[in-house]
Amino acid sequence: MWTLDPNGSIPSWRHEGEPSALRLAFSTRRGGVSAPPYDTLNLGRSSADRPDAVDENRRRWLTSLGLDPACLATAGQVHGARVVEVSGPGHAADCDALVTTTANLALAISSADCLPILLAGEGVVAAVHAGWRGLAAGVSSAALRSLLARGGEMRSVRAHFGPCIRDCCYHVGPEVARRFPAAAIRDRDGLSFLDLATAARLELGEAGLAPDSIDDAGACTACEPYWCFSHRRDRGATGRHWAVIALDARGG
Ligand SMILES: [Zn+2]
Repeated sequence: MWTLDPNGSIPSWRHEGEPSALRLAFSTRRGGVSAPPYDTLNLGRSSADRPDAVDENRRRWLTSLGLDPACLATAGQVHGARVVEVSGPGHAADCDALVTTTANLALAISSADCLPILLAGEGVVAAVHAGWRGLAAGVSSAALRSLLARGGEMRSVRAHFGPCIRDCCYHVGPEVARRFPAAAIRDRDGLSFLDLATAARLELGEAGLAPDSIDDAGACTACEPYWCFSHRRDRGATGRHWAVIALDARGG
């Protein structure tokens, strides 16, 4: 179960009952050094925020989780469905999902409304950036297949969904709505609202993942200005959260 721990010096969504072989978390916007409108824990460089502030935020947050900021892999995030396997620190361009079997290598995905998905299997983990374009292109099932191909067994795989914009807030046009199953769309007052988490749940289910293998942190980024950046709500002038997962060599 995911809970928001509001008390530490850097509040985060943490997962209770995670295997000791894993470290995983979703960041909030609290506990960093960035100035408005990136206040305060902006972890993304794709903004006009000061790079040294972003670096300090990354260092603080990863350290608070017991992760080494130098042992980090990030993704270019181009709203596609490409998955890249990584075995060491660095930046993988032109992909929206990272998978690794390397212990102590943290996989980080950045978002500010898109759905971050963390996948964990036996000895293999993945981090996925899933906005509507990526989901429509099949990024979540592509990452699941990649996990299974590297030794994960379907019955032991768990998928974790982080805070994202939900069907309370995510108005989309008909050209987007028609790309998704009706169960992921809520119609209200003649408008269509997309639920990214439901869309991902349906896609992973179709790929064979059992519904009770999915843990959803549940928050809507647009509804939570105190805890969350939201690209839609803040009209683009906002920071980025990170979702992070690592295999821990000292665990399992
Ligand atoms: Zn909302």
